[in-house]
Amino acid sequence: MNPFEEPPIRDALRGLTPYGAPQLDVPVRLNTNENPYPLPAAVADAVEKTLHGLMRDVNRYPDRDAVALREDLAAYLGHGLTSANVWAANGSNEIIQQLLQVFGGPGRTAMGFPPSYSMHPLLATATATGWMESHRNANFELIAEHAKAQVRVYDPDVVFLCSPNNPTGTALDLGVVEAVAAECSGVVIVDEAYFEFARPGTESAVSLLPRFPRLVVTRTMSKAFAFAGVRVGYLAAHPNVVDAVQLVRLPYHLSALTQAAARVALAHASTLLTQVEAIKEQRDRIVARLRELGFSASDSDANFVLFGRFDDQATVWQKLLDRGVLVRDVGVPGWLRVSAGTPEETDAFLNAMADLA
Ligand SMILES: *Cc1c(COP(=O)(O)O)cnc(C)c1O
Repeated sequence: MNPFEEPPIRDALRGLTPYGAPQLDVPVRLNTNENPYPLPAAVADAVEKTLHGLMRDVNRYPDRDAVALREDLAAYLGHGLTSANVWAANGSNEIIQQLLQVFGGPGRTAMGFPPSYSMHPLLATATATGWMESHRNANFELIAEHAKAQVRVYDPDVVFLCSPNNPTGTALDLGVVEAVAAECSGVVIVDEAYFEFARPGTESAVSLLPRFPRLVVTRTMSKAFAFAGVRVGYLAAHPNVVDAVQLVRLPYHLSALTQAAARVALAHASTLLTQVEAIKEQRDRIVARLRELGFSASDSDANFVLFGRFDDQATVWQKLLDRGVLVRDVGVPGWLRVSAGTPEETDAFLNAMADLA
């Protein structure tokens, strides 16, 4: 064989397929948990105005440390955090990649509890971090004693928790995070991409940071802030963790435009979070209606719902697509995931499901 036919990629990457939710052109797209609403006009205008002014300065590199944005993010999170506790990047996926570059890597291992976010193992592989999987119970719950015992036995360098968990939708009891953080000799990452959608009374792992200096909470502006196209994710942790991440971040990784746009969006947080309330209403409607129709639906603290059970979820996925509704087959046998859309999109999904009931 011609040796130039195939590029000489690392053994660990051979045969893998890139991350890819289908981006199909379908009337109702409920497959990637995006915010279904565009930015409100007042926010979009404010972002535009800021970017317009900024264009005169793009011959210069941006603030490498993104200090002003980190101050704003710290203020948004509250809990007495400052910019020293916060780090930002191009989406929380980049944040997680940076964390694995620092705390994982060759000879180290990360542990996750599937079904959970598929990018955690992919990013582990990409950073040459060994990947170990533990499991949840039949109701997709993670029990503190079980998680703690797994961490004790396998002693991973990085543990991934996801709350609210994607794709199951349910938030973790903070007791689970506490138990794992107390047991783990490495770094515990709590992926809170959907925290803003959690049901009342759900507590953020941010509240545990003062007690656990190796705990990291990751968040994103992609979902609640309707900012998926801009790419802004961030972490909150002890300042030593933030300092450590500086070792691997690219210089000037976060563009001046991204930093400025994010700051404007944060200044309008209360406007944007009213959209979150509307999405939560549709989410709760999906859960209630699916149960009425005789399906199962997990309790959801996110902007999506895991529903089933089907003998063959791939057939149901196709039948929904035939009715113009794109949902996600996350590879959990018997289950599919649907994002909460606008009331009209949610109607379309629920009508299609009534057809199938
Ligand atoms: C959507 C999602 C993210 C967000 O990724 P970004 O890179 O910030 O867009 C992170 N974690 C989970 C679990 C998600 O579902």
